[in-house]
Amino acid sequence: MTALHDILAAQIARQGPMSIAEYMAACLLHPKHGYYSTKDPLGAAGDFTTAPEISQMFGELLGLSLAQSWLDQGAPAPFTLAELGPGRGTLMADMLRATRGVPGFHNALSLHLVEASAPLRAAQAERLQEYAPHWHDSVDTLPQAPLFLIANEFFDALPIRQFQRDGAGWRERVVGLQDGQLTPGLTDAAPQAALEQRLEDTHDGDLVETCTPARAVAESVATRIAQHGGAALIVDYGDWRSLGDTLQAIAEHSAANPFTHPGQADLTAHVDFEALVTDLPCAHSRLTPQGVFLERLGITQRAQALAQKLSGAALESHIAAHARLTHPQEMGSVFKCIALYPKGATPPPGLDP
Ligand code: SAH
Repeated sequence: MTALHDILAAQIARQGPMSIAEYMAACLLHPKHGYYSTKDPLGAAGDFTTAPEISQMFGELLGLSLAQSWLDQGAPAPFTLAELGPGRGTLMADMLRATRGVPGFHNALSLHLVEASAPLRAAQAERLQEYAPHWHDSVDTLPQAPLFLIANEFFDALPIRQFQRDGAGWRERVVGLQDGQLTPGLTDAAPQAALEQRLEDTHDGDLVETCTPARAVAESVATRIAQHGGAALIVDYGDWRSLGDTLQAIAEHSAANPFTHPGQADLTAHVDFEALVTDLPCAHSRLTPQGVFLERLGITQRAQALAQKLSGAALESHIAAHARLTHPQEMGSVFKCIALYPKGATPPPGLDP
């Protein structure tokens, strides 16, 4: 049992079951025992890896797409270059290196990072020192200025609620106690105004997920883009519309039970892109599989150019990384990309309106 297990069990014994959202937030961000508060989970020695940790090509191509969007919008200066949940700073470092040759881009940018984790802020500080980043606890304090933003595997870490359809109402999935163990259960059925439109496409017993914090972040970003210009590239796993239980725990690179070791495993859920981007004050691109997006940006040519300088094990691992990022059986299709951009503008390269 973890320390956080005992804290949450005591709270449930006092106050009754908690929502999946409350549970997820505690597991990830509890100030003393939360997963992101206590360790650097990324990379081979950690619990999971991400696209920018797999290959430099990911950050290079996304950086060039965002910089082209900046040029297409008339190279506004000054502007905010921002990242949500920058992890070790690898993606931003690759983006910045790749955009050095874009005239005026580096002179005009000021770098802003939204990050909750103290250990990861320290890693970012080391990696991105020369760009003098500003850190934020929330998107709401990002400057009111043109905003070019990237978020890879950020929205999947935000707390979801889960609801199971029961007639015209919904039973919420909650975390309670059974024999002293944290155990999922269901509340009684009740109407849910926010799920009104999901009565049309679901049946009894279907489970749907909502993520109010994700929508709030998207609105805050979209408002800046609509008012000041800019673009956001959002990459995450998920689909256009949520259906089914996608809460998952990962520890040491394999799946774990989300309820047994709170605070010790990464907890994520798939992103419902429809709920994230519909009716925002700015435009959004089509939702596009990561593999398709990277191919359109020229990942194969970039991979070939990098391969020229490699041999042996380094070459093998470079070829494997290319496949891992783009292949439909790997990260190429479960991961998807969508852009936010001003109404009337064109989307960043690689994405269709
Ligand atoms: N983008 C990085 C890291 C992804 S892991 C990469 O692709 O490698 C998720 C990141 O989001 C971590 O940096 C984590 O600390 C951060 N994060 C999670 N929840 C957050 C929250 N509510 N507010 C700010 N940052 C958060």
